[in-house]
Amino acid sequence: LPSDKVGEYWAISAHPHGVSTVKNGVYQGQKLDDLYAEHRDLFGNRPEPVFPLLTKILDANDWLSVQVHPDDQYGLAHENSLGKTECWYVLQADEGTKMVMGHHAQTREEFVKAIEEDDYDHLLNSFEINRGDFFYIPSGTLHAICSGSLIYEAQQSSDITYRFYDYHRKDKEGKERQLHVQQSIDVTNVPANLEVNQLFVNTHLDHGSKTTYVESEFFKVDCYRLTGENIIKNNHPFQMVSILDGEGTMNGDEVKKGDHFIVCSDQKEVIYDGTMTVMICTL
Ligand code: ZN
Repeated sequence: LPSDKVGEYWAISAHPHGVSTVKNGVYQGQKLDDLYAEHRDLFGNRPEPVFPLLTKILDANDWLSVQVHPDDQYGLAHENSLGKTECWYVLQADEGTKMVMGHHAQTREEFVKAIEEDDYDHLLNSFEINRGDFFYIPSGTLHAICSGSLIYEAQQSSDITYRFYDYHRKDKEGKERQLHVQQSIDVTNVPANLEVNQLFVNTHLDHGSKTTYVESEFFKVDCYRLTGENIIKNNHPFQMVSILDGEGTMNGDEVKKGDHFIVCSDQKEVIYDGTMTVMICTL
């Protein structure tokens, strides 16, 4: 992403803050939110009133503020929006790059005390990340991307973010950015679940392998590392596909790193050929 500081690319989105447009074919020029509203059959006639998922590429050249997202219940009650559970796959990480996920307080009193004492160094759980790592970040989890990482993100289609801590950075006028401390205290899970599951299910394919990174109530994410021709079945309402690396063809059409598309429910299988890493996010 061409950016000096932080780049965020919404790859497949029907969220009003950044709606994707269909690039070609019968529905060329249509916005994804309209297409979902008018042709629900393409999306397996899902009951959700709005397209439920969003995929992004995040490029962090600076430390991002520590944030937390509400769950659906809190989001709907306070923000008229779904909450946000997300997951990250690390595409690139500079040597020593870290991320923040979770915290060390055991009770809400300890959590609030650490905030009052400005003791974020001890409160926040941070660790080094490497290319190929995957993290499931349920709503209510404090998290931050640190400088030097490029990340694929799949998430519920929501843009509700509470900024918890911004390292006391000041802008040109000497002001710190607005925080949402009370909302953060309300929605953060205490104690945090600090277990990071890095045991994923691997399956052999005809030419390559498939890794299932997560299968939750919100989404499923599979990574296909392809080394030749493979048929990938679609028994989902739709598949959100991102080519993360390499190039090849998809039913004969050329695709390459940086392409993102939706396989609709009427397409029950797709022939992929080439050497590429393909991430597929589904419900
Ligand atoms: Zn987030």
